[in-house]
Amino acid sequence: MEEPQTQLVERLRELARNLWWTWQPEVIDLFRSLDPGLWSTTRHNPIEFLQQIKPQELQLKAEEMALDSRVDYAFRRLKDYLANRKSWGAIYAASLRSSPVAYFSAEFGLHESLPIYSGGLGVLAGDHLKSASDLGIPLVAIGLLYSEGYFRQALDMDGWQKESYPHNNTDLLPIQPALDPNGKPIQIAIPSRNGTLHARLWTVDVGRTKLFLLDSRVPENSEWDQSLTARLYGGDARVRIRQELLLGVGGVMALRALGIRPSVIHLNEGHSAFALLEEIHGEMDHQGQSFWDAAREVSARTVFTTHTPVAAGHDRFWAELVEENLGIIREHLGLSYDDFLGLGRVHPHDQGEPFCMTVLALKLSRRANGVSAIHGEVSRQMWHPLYQNKRLEEVPIGHITNGVHAGSWIAPQMQRMYDLHLPGDWRERIRHPEVWTSIDTISDNEFWETHQILKAGMISYARKRLVSQAKARDESDTVLEKLGKRLDLDVLTLGFARRFATYKRAGLILAEADRLIEMVASTGKRIQLVFAGKAHPEDKFGKELIQSIVKKTRQTDFEDWVVFLEDYDMNVARHLVQGVDVWLNNPRRPQEASGTSGEKALLNGVLNFSVLDGWWAEAYNGINGFAIGHGQTHVDVQIQDRRDHEDLIRTLILEIIPLYYDRDADGLPRQWIARQKAALRSLGWRFNADRMVMDYAERCYLPAAMGISCHIPV
Ligand SMILES: *Cc1c(COP(=O)(O)O)cnc(C)c1O
Repeated sequence: MEEPQTQLVERLRELARNLWWTWQPEVIDLFRSLDPGLWSTTRHNPIEFLQQIKPQELQLKAEEMALDSRVDYAFRRLKDYLANRKSWGAIYAASLRSSPVAYFSAEFGLHESLPIYSGGLGVLAGDHLKSASDLGIPLVAIGLLYSEGYFRQALDMDGWQKESYPHNNTDLLPIQPALDPNGKPIQIAIPSRNGTLHARLWTVDVGRTKLFLLDSRVPENSEWDQSLTARLYGGDARVRIRQELLLGVGGVMALRALGIRPSVIHLNEGHSAFALLEEIHGEMDHQGQSFWDAAREVSARTVFTTHTPVAAGHDRFWAELVEENLGIIREHLGLSYDDFLGLGRVHPHDQGEPFCMTVLALKLSRRANGVSAIHGEVSRQMWHPLYQNKRLEEVPIGHITNGVHAGSWIAPQMQRMYDLHLPGDWRERIRHPEVWTSIDTISDNEFWETHQILKAGMISYARKRLVSQAKARDESDTVLEKLGKRLDLDVLTLGFARRFATYKRAGLILAEADRLIEMVASTGKRIQLVFAGKAHPEDKFGKELIQSIVKKTRQTDFEDWVVFLEDYDMNVARHLVQGVDVWLNNPRRPQEASGTSGEKALLNGVLNFSVLDGWWAEAYNGINGFAIGHGQTHVDVQIQDRRDHEDLIRTLILEIIPLYYDRDADGLPRQWIARQKAALRSLGWRFNADRMVMDYAERCYLPAAMGISCHIPV
């Protein structure tokens, strides 16, 4: 018995080491069914799970559930996936095989068990890697390994957010030391005026894509530098610039040590823009060129994606900090102090202007884009001063709208329904409109049934979480008992979950809560609201907003219909986008660069109810969801907030509630289901990450790798 067990465990471990499992419902199910309780307490981390599971338990399960053949099958599928030579990329992106795309990002949201992300930017990066893998596009990624990640959120008795920073034990993460071509662990060293910064390198397998993570916890570093990669977005400007030095310059050094010569550099947001300096440095060394000649070459194969439509949101550093961290690199590049600082300034000689990472990225890249049509436009306006000889519409910033990774976000039950009714290869051809026309062949009954099952699952998950969160606060048994019964399957349920950034206006729907109660009551129907989201630890306003919502959930007139789930992460996100009826998004237009959680909801047949901003402005056609407002922006923020609030409530009361509760003799909301289907039919093919990554490949990666200079179309 000893032998087969060892092989079984070895194969399970190998499955656990490649994040491919995170988008394979059968493999997830395989892990879970070995010990559902342990699967949950280890936060769906199969590495920790396999370390903790008792051998007897495994033995027992092996006998009762044909484990061997299931593991064999999963294992074979992984091997086939890794070996697949017939992918889209193998045919159309073969030119990148010897020199892949290098994708840089400060955060990657791949799964809740690898907590090195904060929000949408990271999840987008994670989805990008997964689709690049599925499509077979040669791409490697660079990020940082945060030993404490972002933070875990808990709320105290007053509804005040408390942060905790549990340590990520490297033995429990799906990472392995990265090795150079001679099999030696890689360590890099970045010279700077305030000491050499050292870092080791880890590898994460994301299907066929490799993600490399830099980690400053090495004994060669000062204590301060050792804690540099502790927290994501946690430090002040000194920490921030040095993290960015590590990500950018260190990232390029790491690629060099790996023997990888990327044909294209893709910067996901400006945090990593220092990479271009080190890439230029490499060209100068290699070709004996001047800085400007090398810069021209590097910028021709650089793609920069900006994500921030608010001027204050871009990283800016004072000259002294820049010189302290990059002075030695500046000298290697042969640039004067002023010329160097000028690279990060709109007005190069303005001594009062700080060094901006976005400006650096724009100056050193020939392709730049925003992440939705509106965001492209906003970015062209914002950065017009950088291109003074061009008219506004000639500013070379285009757009590629974000998408989400279908396999990661569509509920398994929903996927099974698609398996039955969409063409068999819908996963591979998800970006084709004709795949989604078959949505109409699904009966209303089956469609609704599937949705209700997911909703029931979401409710039972929410109840469990509400109870365990209250337990952690030492609430009374009466409170726990009540929380265990919150939410009703038959009541229209709206979800709102995202970072509590001011512009997202989490409090909008409850702005005049008493009036809302009255108006809903006047319809004779009920609604429920499920909230989740973290405020940045320094964001007092965001925390007050959370507190005001949480206080409501504990008031008798609200407790029946408003709940707040703590510690929003990808797991909470999955349950909510799969199980609510309506996904609410009410950002202050035009500040939502794209928004992606609504796309996750969409692919699960959940209707969007959103301000016409970001992706939704491109998606909404009058019948595939609901709009807040008419796509207008008012210069006076208060007036805009008031208008949007009015419009939100009006549409909710007059349109959404009546439509949801309009049932036929079979109890089916036929018009509602028609909208759900209309949404999938009209939008499923567009707002997925395969379409997005192919857009990047066709419009950016391939032309850049071939040396064709042109910018991304407006
Ligand atoms: C998708 C996702 C986001 C992004 O949501 P937006 O709607 O773009 O704000 C943030 N956090 C988590 C955990 C997510 O899964």
